[in-house]
Amino acid sequence: MPEVTARSTKLSDDGRHDHVYLAGVSMGHITSGEAITMDVDRMVTRTWIGERFFIKLPDGTEADVIAGKCPVCGLEPYFRTAADAENEQKLLELPPAG
Ligand SMILES: [Zn+2]
Repeated sequence: MPEVTARSTKLSDDGRHDHVYLAGVSMGHITSGEAITMDVDRMVTRTWIGERFFIKLPDGTEADVIAGKCPVCGLEPYFRTAADAENEQKLLELPPAG
């Protein structure tokens, strides 16, 4: 199952906050284990065909990565996790993607 292990950010249009715009996804044993990157539209398309994306939280549980809205400016679709509090972005805690 695809685990999101990294993210890339870029500055938002208002210049005041960062947006996660690419997710680094490890496809597990299916490939060599190399992470690939995808934008939110590509992830959404793949969820339509039944793929599920998740991150591992520090406590060892998994949280689904979903399309939502930026909590700051409302941009959508936007990478969120099902475990995010309203103004929280757990994806920002992941390391930067290559
Ligand atoms: Zn925003």
